[in-house]
Amino acid sequence: MKQKKLLYTGKAKSVYHTDVKGTLIVEFRDDITAFDGGRKDTLKNKGSYNAGVSAFFFSCLEKNGVKTHFLEMLDGNRMAVRELSMIPLEVIVRNLAAGSIVRNYPFREGMPLKSPVIVIDYKDDSRHDPMLNDDLIVALKLATPAELMKIKAIALKINTILSALLAKQGITLVDFKMEFGRQGKTIYLGDEISMDSMRLWDKKTGESLDKDVYRFNKGDVMATYNRVAARITKRPKDATPKKKAAAPKKASKRTRQKFHNT
Ligand code: C5P
Repeated sequence: MKQKKLLYTGKAKSVYHTDVKGTLIVEFRDDITAFDGGRKDTLKNKGSYNAGVSAFFFSCLEKNGVKTHFLEMLDGNRMAVRELSMIPLEVIVRNLAAGSIVRNYPFREGMPLKSPVIVIDYKDDSRHDPMLNDDLIVALKLATPAELMKIKAIALKINTILSALLAKQGITLVDFKMEFGRQGKTIYLGDEISMDSMRLWDKKTGESLDKDVYRFNKGDVMATYNRVAARITKRPKDATPKKKAAAPKKASKRTRQKFHNT
């Protein structure tokens, strides 16, 4: 398969056309951002850790009957995917209270939610991804009521599968974000599921094993990503990089307060 023209470039991934009809290539770059792009860094190997974890999750989900855009890994940080017409929704499933719902509502950090809570945001950086409700989604013609029901059911199924899988590795799936797309009338899981889009806590220590390490300067991001990727996919850990990566720049306090995410 030949990689052709760039179709789209996001904060941490680029999408390319290919010479195969209906197939695209997603490249996971080494870029990392937080606070609505207010903070940016490039961290060696980050793309391959996220690509590996995403591919692993997509394959597990497919085995469990969830349709995803994943076709195959082409190399360490590029995957071939099914071309979808993406739905601009960020579908977040939460099992424990953390992040924006603690900031915006009277939840205590770490409080278990009796049943998973689905929050859907409008994927629009210029509007800072505002939260939607079902009526707004239908009024904006982003999805039909039937599609929305389907998306929520798939999101909950994915949550059940991934929560169980991660629990076996001693990891709590606190919350995570998904994006979906259509091919004809069929809804597929698209985008990625990785340390950038999940909140993962070590069951024993409570340690963050995800992008919160970068967002809130909780330690060495790449060491965490390497460790957690190895733990999830059960591959041996990479040799510790010899050269110490430069410490990522800190976002200003104002930027951190203004924006809360990617
Ligand atoms: O910030 P918030 O608590 O709303 O994020 C919930 C979950 O969704 C987190 O795991 C976060 O990493 C993910 N997320 C994301 N991209 C966004 C917003 C949230 O991956 N734009």
